[in-house]
Amino acid sequence: MSHDAQSPSHDDLPPNLTSNLPRRLPRHPFDPEDDKLREECGVFGVIGTSEAANFVALGLHALQHRGQEAGGIVSHHPEFGFKSVRRFGYIRDSFTKQSVMDTLPGALAIGHVRYSTSGSKGNTQIRDVQPFFGEFSMGGAAIAHNGNITNADALRRELIDRGSIFQSSSDSECIIHLMARSLQRDIPERMKDALRRVEGAFSIGAMTRTKLIGVRDPLGVRPLVLGRVGDGFALSSETCGLDIIGADLVREIEPGEMVVISGDAVQSFFPFERKAGRFCIFEHVYFSRPDSILGGRSVYETRRAIGVELAREAPVDADLVVPIPDSGTPAAVGYAAESGLPFTLAITRNQYVGRTFIEPTEQIRNMGVRLKLNVNRSLVAGKRVLLVDDSVVRGTTSRKIKEMVLDAGAAEVHFRIASPPTAWPCFYGVDTPERGKLLAAHMSEDEMRDYLGVDSLRFISLDGLYRAVGEAAGRDPTAPRYCDACFSGDYPVVPADMIARGFELKTAAE
Ligand code: SF4
Repeated sequence: MSHDAQSPSHDDLPPNLTSNLPRRLPRHPFDPEDDKLREECGVFGVIGTSEAANFVALGLHALQHRGQEAGGIVSHHPEFGFKSVRRFGYIRDSFTKQSVMDTLPGALAIGHVRYSTSGSKGNTQIRDVQPFFGEFSMGGAAIAHNGNITNADALRRELIDRGSIFQSSSDSECIIHLMARSLQRDIPERMKDALRRVEGAFSIGAMTRTKLIGVRDPLGVRPLVLGRVGDGFALSSETCGLDIIGADLVREIEPGEMVVISGDAVQSFFPFERKAGRFCIFEHVYFSRPDSILGGRSVYETRRAIGVELAREAPVDADLVVPIPDSGTPAAVGYAAESGLPFTLAITRNQYVGRTFIEPTEQIRNMGVRLKLNVNRSLVAGKRVLLVDDSVVRGTTSRKIKEMVLDAGAAEVHFRIASPPTAWPCFYGVDTPERGKLLAAHMSEDEMRDYLGVDSLRFISLDGLYRAVGEAAGRDPTAPRYCDACFSGDYPVVPADMIARGFELKTAAE
């Protein structure tokens, strides 16, 4: 990567000067979401509209749930060239300032929100914040990547041996270096060359001086949609990003597809071997926003259908259905509708606690999730309470919530979970604890019930989840339609780097 007068005005400092700057926003020690899997990134791009960077900032704001650690925008203006701003923290904190947005002129821009899975995890440098930029003989290009490259270690070693000088610790930078080594004569062709070497999950928003480019990996693990905004186009990880700028959804980018958008033309290519898609089924359960559309269907409706399915599979004698806010709510609505039990908002979430509450005393730390969630005693006292949550990862938060509900006077506490037991880590762009820390990796459902200390615990089955997302026959074990590796251990792309580091795939006995 090289920078010149037309290259981004990278506002990042040299690495030796960034070491004392604030790092990632720490997960709060009592943030219930600390016990969740976490989506890693969101990408957004716009072409053909003045002030494209403002639209990108809005789009990234809508995608903030996909990454809160840092964000960046690159724009291009014919007179001023490429410009870039990358910042730690929320989009609203940096990209709402006129003084910042004025430095990002032009009708073409891409952006990225990040929460790292690869790279400098826990020690983020500003140079790890995307979009990344490369200056090639035919002009510059910037890329923003959502996903995880599963052979990045091997690629990085190979590229360094051949002379590449990496500036970040991110897996995504491999793509820029692979593009630099391609002999193709234009940037989209170089990108195709580069991505044919890459394994894993990638949804990419990229740009040249004149083109907006979107790509999904051959299995389409992570989402990417195309929208129409005025006379221009937009790319977004989710449709909620299109909504905020008033763009109309055109369609999803297909698995293995590259779209190259210039002027009014959208060219479509399929540069990889065609395969059946394996979209991340957890996007339906938890990662995507409930107001987004996935596969032509509202995420909210799918989550509600999961609750319906769960009620059919795992009925319970209870008095109330109570969602664990916010992500358990649509499934609880579905469960209540199917079971006939009253839906009751008996747990209130304080939206103002979280990563801003950085330095807790020991006494406050011991309050645990009470600082974030509060149980309405008058609603649960003496009742048999059924709690609905989207997932159980380590189980630490579930135990604390159970205690709170019992402390509030509930007669019984039951749990119903809107995903199957999470027993395997994700290597495709989701932050997961190592396998040993996943409760379901070493406990049966009954053992988890006893560990959580609840009266009953049931997870939706994998077949039930498939039915809820629209596969009437459930999961076809010979050709599953989704990636469900964190539940099944069936990894659709061999995680080569992790195997080299000692990770063991599921055995026949498991
Ligand atoms: S392993 Fe789980 S979280 Fe990761 S892509 Fe597959 S289904 Fe999604």
